[in-house]
Amino acid sequence: MLKRFSKLTLVSLFLAMASLSACKKEGQESEASSQKVLEATKIHGKTMGTFYAVNVVGGFEGGEEALTELCEGIFKEICDRISTFDKNAELARFNDFKSTEPFEISNELGILIQECVYQSRRIEGAMDISVGPLVNLWGFGKDRRLEIAPTQADIDERKKLVGLDKFELRTTKDKSYLVKHHADVRLDMATVGEGIGADMVAEALVKRGYRNFMVNVAGASRSLGLNEKGRKWRIGIEDPTSMAPKVLVPVCPLNDAVTTAGSYRNFFKDENTGRVYSHAIDPKTGYPVSHSTLSVTVISHSAFESDALDTGLLVLGADRALKFGEDNNMAIATIEYVDGKVQFRHTKAFERYLECK
Ligand code: ADP
Ligand code: MG
Repeated sequence: MLKRFSKLTLVSLFLAMASLSACKKEGQESEASSQKVLEATKIHGKTMGTFYAVNVVGGFEGGEEALTELCEGIFKEICDRISTFDKNAELARFNDFKSTEPFEISNELGILIQECVYQSRRIEGAMDISVGPLVNLWGFGKDRRLEIAPTQADIDERKKLVGLDKFELRTTKDKSYLVKHHADVRLDMATVGEGIGADMVAEALVKRGYRNFMVNVAGASRSLGLNEKGRKWRIGIEDPTSMAPKVLVPVCPLNDAVTTAGSYRNFFKDENTGRVYSHAIDPKTGYPVSHSTLSVTVISHSAFESDALDTGLLVLGADRALKFGEDNNMAIATIEYVDGKVQFRHTKAFERYLECK
């Protein structure tokens, strides 16, 4: 398991796929209802401490069993590399290696780490895989759940282990090594696990010739083509203030990857103060985010890229997330809770996904 709780429940994604009509244009309904519903292979299950669901329109060769085997094989491969919960996983073994000597890793893990560092630098280090010691301190790692918040002294101590300068990736012609600059450095790649999963399943399906599918790994999705009713795929951005899963904004992914990071599903409440702390942690302050931004959705060609950015953009907050989106011509949407109201904002590049053009 990568972690105990889901990225976002996104049960809404499935509700949305089944029932949303807000993206529909005039005339689409009658056209679609005259269309035959195609055969589809649909599976769902659990991975990385959360859930996944895959729908292959036209049917997957070998049916549900074969599709499950393909997906779970991929998820196992990811967990074997980047889980911090399974002590035998490659990243967990590096974390447990209490030394500043080079630790040999697979080239595959090396590439993932390099990509994470690149995405981190794009957003001022707000997403930082070296946040592991803080994740553990705040009770969101494998160690334990908390009942009261840690002390400032503990936070300051852990912060000394966090930052892109606290570890190093070294590569030779054919080998990769990770080096800790302090023996207690710990990496946490939970924030990109679901995006990697969605990309890998999507790529495996495309490679096998499938052109119409939807892959959801918790809050990360990749889709292609049309759904079994011959319509564009639709997913929903969840209303973060609703107890039950509820779609706030319907989105048509238009063959791109959609991921959402939220501060409202995985959290703990300090029993003394009643304060609520979410699992998205600001590496600069050492504290979980506590501002009014409740979720950030990123749409790009890659679920990895979207997933690597969404948690960091949540840390930065809506204004900075949207500015980053405008500056980089990226499709980004935010949900805030302001003056007792839910506020949805998005960048210009996000518009086409709302209109389903
Ligand atoms: P979300 O849906 O909220 O993005 P994810 O599961 O994708 O949730 O990412 C949250 C997890 O990422 C946390 O549980 C923690 O392990 C890790 N994390 C928390 N804050 C950061 C951060 N600033 N940078 C990188 N990883 C983080
Ligand atoms: Mg993320």
